[in-house]
Amino acid sequence: MIFSNNRTEGRHYLSSARWPAAVVTGHDTFPPDRYTQNTMSVPNRLRITEIFHSLQGESSTAGLPTVFVRLTGCPLRCCYCDTEYAFNGGEWMILPEILDQVGSYGAHYVTVTGGEPLAQNNCPALLESLCDAGYRVSLETSGALDICGVDPRVVRVMDLKTPASGEVERNRMANLECLRAQDEVKFVICNRDDFKWSRDLVKKYRLAERCHVLFSPAYERQDAGELAGWILADRLPVRLQLQLHKILWGGEPGH
Ligand code: SF4
Repeated sequence: MIFSNNRTEGRHYLSSARWPAAVVTGHDTFPPDRYTQNTMSVPNRLRITEIFHSLQGESSTAGLPTVFVRLTGCPLRCCYCDTEYAFNGGEWMILPEILDQVGSYGAHYVTVTGGEPLAQNNCPALLESLCDAGYRVSLETSGALDICGVDPRVVRVMDLKTPASGEVERNRMANLECLRAQDEVKFVICNRDDFKWSRDLVKKYRLAERCHVLFSPAYERQDAGELAGWILADRLPVRLQLQLHKILWGGEPGH
């Protein structure tokens, strides 16, 4: 398998043509077919869409060189999703292969993302292995699955899906009890109603006292300056987050 280690190189997309209709529906999303029938007997492998080196575009480490490990599959279908190419396809890799690839970039920060990484049963083992190897590890998760068992060394960057996402019913509110000061909760805001919903949730659960809170304008749906004005007008103790990778590279995958 070839992954690019340079933004100017063409990336090798893991061909979905090899993988017939692997629609992801939940925790135990894989196996879809004959390619995955040995899932239970190969406990240290994960299905990977891509591994690449870029600048962190979101969260409190935005701007820092980071290796991204994008796991294949997601049980949600947010209206603004920009990683639909990770829903299916990908290629199995065992943990040592993933660690070797990550190590080749020489970065200190590693983000495990998706799709929804926790939809793969071996994601916790990957997170633990990366922590053991000395990386600063973060996990980007939809908030729909249980985050409480994730290795405590991992920074959880958890979405709370807003009404306009189309997936608000999937929020696992029990996850809020597991948040720690180092963790981050992200609201992707599509419109004024989303903002008011998010604002009310921040206040109701006193989220800003528990962890970092990020308000991010949905790309090409919500004006960032307008959102900034709303945050200031309501004196919200949250961070406006612009997606740095979108500013730098547009919506191009792999950044
Ligand atoms: S949870 Fe993330 S990857 Fe899944 S559909 Fe929503 S935005 Fe896309």
